[in-house]
Amino acid sequence: MKYQEGFERRLKGMPVSPGIAMGVLRVEARGCPSPPVRTILPTDIESEWERFESALARTEEELCGLKSRVEHLSGAHEAAIFDAHLLFLRDRTILNKLRKELPARLQNIDAVYYAVVQNFMEVMRHVDDSYLRSRVADIADVLQRVLKNMQPSEHAPLLGDSSEPCVLAAYDLAPSDTADLDPQRVLGFVTEAGSAVSHTAILARSLGMPAVVAVPQLVIDSRAGCQAILDGYNGLLILNPAEETLKHYRELQAEKEHAYKALIEMKDLPAVTTDGRRIRLAANVEFAHEYSAIQRAGAEGVGLYRTEFFLLGCGSLPDEETQYLHYRNLVESCDGQEVIFRTLDSGGDKLPFEVLEEKEDNPFLGWRGIRVSLSRVEIFKEQLRAILRASAHGKVGVMFPMVSGITEVKDVKALLEECRAELREKGQSYDENMRVGIMIEVPSAAMMADVLARHVDFFSIGTNDLTQYTIAVDRVNFRVASMFRPTHPGVIRLISHTIAAGIPTAVCGEMGGDINLVPLLVGLGVSELSVGAHLLPLVRYAIRHLSYEECRSMAAKALEAEDSYTVRNYSSELAHRSYPDLFK
Ligand code: PEP
Ligand code: MG
Repeated sequence: MKYQEGFERRLKGMPVSPGIAMGVLRVEARGCPSPPVRTILPTDIESEWERFESALARTEEELCGLKSRVEHLSGAHEAAIFDAHLLFLRDRTILNKLRKELPARLQNIDAVYYAVVQNFMEVMRHVDDSYLRSRVADIADVLQRVLKNMQPSEHAPLLGDSSEPCVLAAYDLAPSDTADLDPQRVLGFVTEAGSAVSHTAILARSLGMPAVVAVPQLVIDSRAGCQAILDGYNGLLILNPAEETLKHYRELQAEKEHAYKALIEMKDLPAVTTDGRRIRLAANVEFAHEYSAIQRAGAEGVGLYRTEFFLLGCGSLPDEETQYLHYRNLVESCDGQEVIFRTLDSGGDKLPFEVLEEKEDNPFLGWRGIRVSLSRVEIFKEQLRAILRASAHGKVGVMFPMVSGITEVKDVKALLEECRAELREKGQSYDENMRVGIMIEVPSAAMMADVLARHVDFFSIGTNDLTQYTIAVDRVNFRVASMFRPTHPGVIRLISHTIAAGIPTAVCGEMGGDINLVPLLVGLGVSELSVGAHLLPLVRYAIRHLSYEECRSMAAKALEAEDSYTVRNYSSELAHRSYPDLFK
């Protein structure tokens, strides 16, 4: 059922960042295969046509360009396909139908054009002539080009000039879009695509912004300007909420805020189990503005500083001096608590480090993480020197992302040694005892943990990527999102094998912030958890209500389990029994 004026309507998706947001709905259709529907006034018809005409002209230009490129590369025969595209672009039947439908429907022209062409394609799919049937794909191609050319540019600011606080509904958001969202203006967001461990979802949790992803038909089913409630606990977007729904959510919001305040008040209590097992509880950080939140939440330092958001977020790469000052600022604000800097992890779904001439087909398996740094040595060394210099001002650790085996470890350690020598020569100080670690997020590294442990001081398990690579399930592809299960026995055995190597081992992936899974990680023997600042008070409370002995025997059973559901149930059952209050 589509949106109906005035009626409460609930759309269900996957909750990825807790909280409740209430406000006016803004719809952002960038990247969406179907345009959102907006009502227009009769006086808008002319300007809508102008918008459509200029999209047709841009599309024509693109198609002619493509035609001559293909003609040049492969010959006239292959290029003839674009003649068919060009003919369809100006097809009289379609344009006449559009002229009639626009004043009749009084909706934005992209939505009407979409509906008219969809109807046409539906007819074509059922004709007897197989040649005509095969043209449907070409028509769909032209349709998408025209729609794309009617959308605002990729680089236009997401919310334009509007300053009214809103709930944002979008087809998809890139991590860079999310990083730019101003929490004063965007109270929460909901997307049609997306998954729980995409960097977009991770950033929402860092910003403390309620978020829901994977809502089917979101853009087409929602209406900009209506009132909306976003329920980041249960994965709901409620359009046109009824009075009693609003009342319920206002009360729930007040209750949750009250409960969270009570948790924050325990910020100075240690994360220790009822039988004395101490777990270091640190924060994951992406942005400088989070420093105050990590203090408020009582973090024992920073267990993962994702430097890529700072390095790639400011247009051009900052030089060594700028990096040093930035890192030093964080180290000094942590008052003697350790800050672990992870070196640049670009690629995958994050910002690319360089725009490649040819797009990578499988970016998560491609030029990502340490592979990028090791092939751009001078830039990498600038970052290493900046981190080393920051280590003179407090307690610092460094770790490397996406390590797959010993060769990379030896290479980065040799570069680190070169950097130390260069700093000594210049008389610049650094901490000789700065800890050096690696992320364990590629299965081959987990398998080789015993060997790698001889060369580094600590491990930090990136369960987001370890799950992705172990089960071969793309962490941002919503079609396989339900398969993304960090409790897969294959994943937990790798975690257990890594911990058995016997050096300090943290978990800094999203699994560590899931209060259902904290008993499992504690029972498997992790010595540290690093989680988003907003989750930290919950995880501390959870640890303080667990018995290490109980966690250990549950984890031993889990390691024998056959499937991910059983593992999750074991851990979740212990979690509910140990701290039922957190699930209310
Ligand atoms: C991970 O992979 O679990 C991790 C913490 O790193 P990122 O999410 O930045 O890839
Ligand atoms: Mg990772």
